Amino acid sequence: MIELSWFSHLKGPLGVYIHIPFCLAKCKYCDFCSFPIPPGSVPDAYVDRLIEDIEDFGLKTGRPEADTIFFGGGTPTLLSVRQWGKIMEQLSRSFRILPGTEISTECNPATADRALFSELKSLGFNRVSIGMQSANDDELSLLGRVHRNEQTVRTVRDAYSAGFREINLDMMFGIPGQTKDSFEHSIRTACSLPVTHISSYALQLEPGTPLEAHRNEYVFPDDDQVADMYDALCSCLSELGYERYEISNFSIPGHECRHNLKYWTGAPYMGFGISSHSFLDRTRFFQPSDLDAYLTSAAGYQTEEELTPERFCDELLVLGLRLTRGVSLSDISRRSGVDALARYGTQIDTMRKQGTVDLSEDRLTIQPQYMFISNSILDDLLPDR
Ligand code: SF4
Repeated sequence: MIELSWFSHLKGPLGVYIHIPFCLAKCKYCDFCSFPIPPGSVPDAYVDRLIEDIEDFGLKTGRPEADTIFFGGGTPTLLSVRQWGKIMEQLSRSFRILPGTEISTECNPATADRALFSELKSLGFNRVSIGMQSANDDELSLLGRVHRNEQTVRTVRDAYSAGFREINLDMMFGIPGQTKDSFEHSIRTACSLPVTHISSYALQLEPGTPLEAHRNEYVFPDDDQVADMYDALCSCLSELGYERYEISNFSIPGHECRHNLKYWTGAPYMGFGISSHSFLDRTRFFQPSDLDAYLTSAAGYQTEEELTPERFCDELLVLGLRLTRGVSLSDISRRSGVDALARYGTQIDTMRKQGTVDLSEDRLTIQPQYMFISNSILDDLLPDR
């Protein structure tokens, strides 16, 4: 169990993540920590426990600075306005929230309207991330999503008319029955809306999910078809003015997600709520996923890993190479205390000759055409991975 007073010297600025583990229904592919509940019934006990944790952290660490706040889930937009207000009030008591802080929430299109977005605006939110997944209703239905495309379109317009100018849509590819054409239709529908950011991930079959249990009943696109969909995603978004800045994330330049950039650059962040993860002082820790234990205060932060300098150096490399701008080897050497060129130089030389990576001055990048298979590139780069 980790004691938060270890971090009493923290100054920040930190990223803050709040996990709201409730949804209207469980999607068929989902293995996230989320529990189905009826609308309007997020337990006050959960919100109260969150507030206790945030207060405790602020007291033990001397109210550090924060410059990104992200509500994820689950479906945070199931919170009532009163519950949002209580959490935001505690956050501003426990953190020095810097001017210009990015304050985001995830949103399921079936759970938000113009009135809610106006309330969120007045609470300081300036970014919303909407789970569109597809513009095709048959694909949404197969995935077990509770919304349909018409609701996504209305939700984006509601967010925009309430004043949100930073809007992300989450999209999915590799869905059974999906084709390159139907995926391209989804992307073009998404980009016809006033959105500045698109995240798109390939569907993963997670053990224990209904989709995985019934996998034989579906026809999944094969690996080549999935790779073709990813290529279509990149070329279509590029044509529409969105730049790929991370393997699965695209934005109008200047509209990247600052909170997620913290994860990819090894910056410190603190998570609150069950199953949330944190990374402070080279230590990864998490709250377990047991809702009853969390509500009865029996849960606490468990240490996942205290990174050695070598491990921290590897993490900075692995995470940073997800970004199209790659990593500065001198920067990761300075931050980790490990000579990155000495650690990876031989493999980098080999891989440069193979054409999979580029080292320009001090900056290492994966060549654009290999981004989608970056895992195998990283396996070659880190022999002990
Ligand atoms: S809305 Fe998101 S978190 Fe909730 S069940 Fe669906 S995929 Fe999981």
